[in-house]
This record gives sequence, structure tokens and C-alpha cells, in this order.
Amino acid sequence: PDSDTADEAVRGTCDDASICKRFAVSSGYWKDPYIQYFVRQAKERKAPEINRGYYARVQGVNLLLNAFLRKTECNCQIINLGAGLDTTFWRLKDENLLPKKYFEVDFPAIVARKLYNIKSKPPLSKPIMETHSGESLLLDAHSLDSARYSIIGADLRNLKDMEEKLKKMSMDPQLPTLLVSECVLVYMTPEQSASLLQWATNTFPTAMLINYEQVTMESLSHETLLLENNLLEWINQLLITWGFFCNQVNMMDRFGQIMVENLQRRQCNLAGVDTCQSLQSQTERFLSTGWESADAWNMMNVYSNLPQEDVMRIEKLEFLDEKELLEQLLLHYCISWATKDSLGLGLAGITF
Ligand code: SAM
Repeated sequence: PDSDTADEAVRGTCDDASICKRFAVSSGYWKDPYIQYFVRQAKERKAPEINRGYYARVQGVNLLLNAFLRKTECNCQIINLGAGLDTTFWRLKDENLLPKKYFEVDFPAIVARKLYNIKSKPPLSKPIMETHSGESLLLDAHSLDSARYSIIGADLRNLKDMEEKLKKMSMDPQLPTLLVSECVLVYMTPEQSASLLQWATNTFPTAMLINYEQVTMESLSHETLLLENNLLEWINQLLITWGFFCNQVNMMDRFGQIMVENLQRRQCNLAGVDTCQSLQSQTERFLSTGWESADAWNMMNVYSNLPQEDVMRIEKLEFLDEKELLEQLLLHYCISWATKDSLGLGLAGITF
């Protein structure tokens, strides 16, 4: 595929993420009154393993993000890279935890869609108006610039252009800065993501980065991963269609997941490394791009360290007959985070 087609496929992933999140929300896994305004309800049920996986992802990222806000007493900025249709801005506003400014970056086409929804749905636009003061608010088809929330369309692989756009929206490099990349770096080559990580440490003296993604093996080429992801997507669609006809959607969903697992397992064997080693390569990636401290946990560990009262609540929501499948799924994803702390705020102490 040419690079435009490849980028188009990458852009499509933001719907998948939000549709899965919306389904988990509607099943009671966590609260998000805003996601319904961005994506439709899933046509078919998602398997309990998928819902729990998304629960661990969202709660895990939120936990570290909230810890950063506490350490900086919200005297900071957040830049969500490849934010897609993420709703964190509205959550933070409702919880009275907004940073000085919250930025989002994604491809212009995704940003245009997000802005269209914001403009046409008062429950989304009202909170932005409420936090706005002073000069007139900019909300056109391509970007949003308000006092506390900005959205820009840019390519994360074109750092100069992205930085210029962020600066226009009064990004302040001297402020403690949290960068979030949730399922995003995997869509870039290792060189491109390394440049992004290096840009961050060159630009912000006091910063933290929270990254969620599939545990990838260095020896497995980026192209192979993308190809297999595309193949999986195709197989999944096929299974869903088939399942629709057979009225066995739930089972088909699981079947699809098992195939994902097998492929992932195969990828691991192919690379000949275990999860620990690849977690180590996650932290090395940060340390070699100017970050001072770094850590990486697989999602099984994250899940076991989330507030257990809530975990017990969600485990009662749906019956899970295949515990092992969930564990396998969680083991193949990780949250990694890194810090750089010129102001000495104690960012390196943030953990689960
Ligand atoms: N972070 C969101 C979440 O977890 O719900 C969205 C995740 S989605 C899997 C990946 C997002 O990254 C998409 O919205 C995609 O458009 C964006 N993305 C990937 N590569 C990008 C690039 N080079 N420049 C800008 N955005 C990019």
C-alpha cells in the first residue's frame, strides 16, 4: 500500500478504540458521559476479555495522569499525542483537575471530525465555553484554541510543523508537561518514534510521558507488525460478518481474539524474546532519547495494582470463563512511562 493508504488505515484505528471504549462504558466498566457523542454504539457485543482489557488501559493511564496532576498541583500542561476522540479533557473539567492547558494532536482529518462533533453537540461545547475567558475563542473546521483546551491537526512525524502549531496555541515549554501516547507510537517506525521522544526531552526540561501499547519486539520489523495488524483486522471483519449471519457474534468475537493471541504468540517466538526483555527495551528506548527515568509494566501487573475494590466491582459485571485468555491478552500490552525533572518535583517517584 502507498503511504496515503497506510495513513488512512492508521486514522481508522481511532474509531475502533473509541467504539470499544463506548461499549465498555455502556456495560458499566467506568463512567464517561461524553464518549457517546463521538462514536456510535457497537453493533455487536465485545467479549468480556476485551472490556476488561480496555478497563485496565483506561484506568491505568488515568492513574498515572492523575498522579502527575497531583505532583504538579495542576500547574502544568498536558499534550495528548494521537488523541483521536479521547474525552479526557471533559473528565478533568468535571473532576476539577484541569491543567493550565490541555492540548491534543492528531491528523487533520481526525481533528476535523472531532471539531464537528464538538461544534454540533452542546454537552461537548458548553464545558469548553465555561472554561474560556478573555479573547475570542477559535473553533473552526481545523483547530480549536480556547483558554484551557486546544486541538491541532498535525503529523507526529513532522515535529517542526507540530511544534510551531503548538506554540501558536501558547504551549509553554517551561511548564511541567505531561505527554500521553495511547496506542500511537506503534504506528510509526522506531526511528520516527525515537525522534518524537527525543523532541520531547529537548523541548521540555520538566516532563513525563505515559505510553500505552502492544509489547513489541525489536527484532520484529515494523512492516511485519503493520501487515499482521491489517490481516487481523480483515479476519476480524470476516468473522464478525459471518458471526452476524450465524447469530453467534459473541463466540466469533472470542474466536477472533484467540487468533489475535496466537498471532501475537507467534510474533514473540519469532523474535525469540520474552515479555520481560521487551519491557526492558521499552525503558531503554526512553533512556536513549534523553529521559532520566523510565519504567514499563505489562497490563497484567497494572491490572493487579489498580484499586482492587473497583476491580472486584467490574469483575462481577460479566462472567468470564477463560481467565487464561484475559491473562494472555494483558501480558501482551504495557504501560511505560518516563520522566525528566529539572524542577525537582519528584516525578520519578510516580508509579502504580
Ligand atoms: N489515543 C486514542 C485512544 O487511545 O483512544 C486514539 C488511539 S488510535 C489507536 C491511534 C491514533 O493515533 C489515531 O487517532 C491516529 O490518527 C493517530 N496517529 C497515528 N499516527 C499519527 C501521526 N503520524 N500523526 C498524527 N496522529 C497520528
